[in-house]
Amino acid sequence: MPDLNTSVQYIKGVGEARAKLLAKLGIRTLFDLISHFPRAYEDRTKILKIASLPVGQSVCFEAVVMTSPRSSRIRANFDLTKCRVADDTGSLNLTFFNNRHYAEKLKVGESYIFYGSLTEDERYGHQMANPLFESSNSEGVVTRRIMPVYRLTAGLTNNQLVKAISGGLAACGDILPDCLPDSIRRQYGLCHARYAYENIHNPKDEKALADARKRLIFEEFFVFSAGLTMLRSKRTDNHGRRFENLSLDTFLDALPFVPTGAQRRAMDDALADMGSGKAMSRLVQGDVGSGKTVVAAAAAFVAFQNGCQSALMAPTEILAEQHYRTLSELLEPLGVKTVLLTGSMKSGAKKNALELIALGMSDLVVGTHALISEAVQFKNLALVIADEQHRFGVAQRAALSAKGSQPHVLVMSATPIPRTLALMMYGDLDVSIIDERPPGRQEIDTFLVNESMRQRINAFIRKQIDEGHQVYIVCPMVEEGEDENIKAAEAYAKQLENGPLNGLRIGLVHGKMKGADKEYVMRAFSEGSLDVLVSTTVIEVGVDVPNASLIVIENADRFGLSQLHQLRGRVGRGQHKSYCVMFSSAEKAETLARLKVLCSTNDGFKISEEDLKLRGPGDFFGSRQHGLPEFRIADLAEDSHVLYQAREAADRYMKDNPIPPVLMSRIQNLFEENGNIFN
Ligand code: ADP
Ligand code: MG
Repeated sequence: MPDLNTSVQYIKGVGEARAKLLAKLGIRTLFDLISHFPRAYEDRTKILKIASLPVGQSVCFEAVVMTSPRSSRIRANFDLTKCRVADDTGSLNLTFFNNRHYAEKLKVGESYIFYGSLTEDERYGHQMANPLFESSNSEGVVTRRIMPVYRLTAGLTNNQLVKAISGGLAACGDILPDCLPDSIRRQYGLCHARYAYENIHNPKDEKALADARKRLIFEEFFVFSAGLTMLRSKRTDNHGRRFENLSLDTFLDALPFVPTGAQRRAMDDALADMGSGKAMSRLVQGDVGSGKTVVAAAAAFVAFQNGCQSALMAPTEILAEQHYRTLSELLEPLGVKTVLLTGSMKSGAKKNALELIALGMSDLVVGTHALISEAVQFKNLALVIADEQHRFGVAQRAALSAKGSQPHVLVMSATPIPRTLALMMYGDLDVSIIDERPPGRQEIDTFLVNESMRQRINAFIRKQIDEGHQVYIVCPMVEEGEDENIKAAEAYAKQLENGPLNGLRIGLVHGKMKGADKEYVMRAFSEGSLDVLVSTTVIEVGVDVPNASLIVIENADRFGLSQLHQLRGRVGRGQHKSYCVMFSSAEKAETLARLKVLCSTNDGFKISEEDLKLRGPGDFFGSRQHGLPEFRIADLAEDSHVLYQAREAADRYMKDNPIPPVLMSRIQNLFEENGNIFN
């Protein structure tokens, strides 16, 4: 008896050669096979009469064969088989090309169900080429059913896949192991696994299909949620250092501003975690400029107050330096020794820093994430803070925590993401949301313009610079490509230099430059020795140049909304009124409407909800770096309400019950591509 992990090769009707093709679709085990769900369905349940067959649309009809199939060779490698069929409303010529063995199975006088598409030809009148058929007395395999349509690969037909999957279902026997506990299944009105898998592939009717889908979507989210619950409970088993002294008084007194309510809440959440005796694992989520750094500072201060070291990791050297400046200014006066550690530091300085860290003479270490991977020895590291780590998934974070001996972990993300997606990515973390901006913040005025505004915008750029500010110009590409309408950073920077922005100090930065060169230009811009920075999206993450007051985004329609919002967040970081200008020559009303969302709101959460709706989760971050598992049937945007139900169900169930082995193996299966994170 095969189990769900049996290789597909041993399933009846598959074999070695076909197994290789199936592997290309990611199908390796019996379970993979039966959960290769249709991407669409064709309704072949209706049987029409010949007289009412539509032209150009595949349909089923029942007819009797009038003339026996006659094959002739038209030319080399080209067979033609013809026969005539009829019902009580009319008759029809069928033709088969290069398929005589199939066609010659038709027997005169017998009745068949055909499936095909009628064509109308001036010379030959109505006829039908290459219909599928099966005897009226047989059970419907390709007719009289709702036909699944599968994702295919070269060399594999839909029918072969239909057969393989039905072989797979047969091999599973009467009872498919059900990973949903009975109590949950009943509570949410879900059908049995066997029924669901059967009917998703071979639906009895529309209702059965809907029931199957409902159950399978729930199942997938349930397995996912159970996995996250496991991660979370594993984590809460982690004993973290319990901090006794949780007072923030001296810290708050020294702050140059009064924290917002949302900042206070986030600080209090973090403090409570660190005083609980369990290891903190918290995400602080807040829009750009919402003031996350001070929350990190508060946490580091508390660690210091309890005699422990903290480490703060930033994704780039520039950001690390920036944080180092801000944090040392704030914390050194309170006695917190702060050191910087980056890859590009001179070896002497580095050695010195490493020594301070090892001896416990530095309380807060700020650096890139080489910080944890390099041979850095801490004396007593108890808190790890990761900034702008929205590109990290569940697995990477698990790896991160494993580096220390159960340090408290605080993750800060500036990408406001929709609730569903946050649940997916950070479902194993506790979350604090900073949904309030520091007082006095202005909205960034945002405009969508086309080429007709080019001169005026160029004049506006000059005006900003004349007033002592700086300007970003973002292009979608580095080098010029086929489409000359798409601005390429390299060429455009030159063009501006020699033309409209002649005389200004223009810098160029893009992803194809060496790290050190990139840093050099970014630094020049942030020190104010450049007026204009022409760039690709490399400036997206975290750079803080408060003097920049205008960002111009070329071919804005090439970017996702969340990405545009992130880009826009590069300005409006100081006191000056700031602007974002999006160029687009798109004409589609849809595209323009999408971009206008940005003109109408500065609220990152609203924007991200729109983005998820429009582009789906896969594209949300521009690429698959998010560490989310791939779902086979559930759709994050469409089925989000089911995710909430499933999560609740999983939490409740797992509180009182051990994880059944079927569920466990499904969880491992789902998270597989993230590496084994359940050990
Ligand atoms: P982000 O959330 O993008 O990391 P930062 O922590 O860099 O934001 O804060 C952005 C700016 O706002 C900083 O210059 C910071 O000093 C300032 N800031 C943060 N909180 C407040 C506040 N409560 N009142 C006034 N200014 C604040
Ligand atoms: Mg920040």
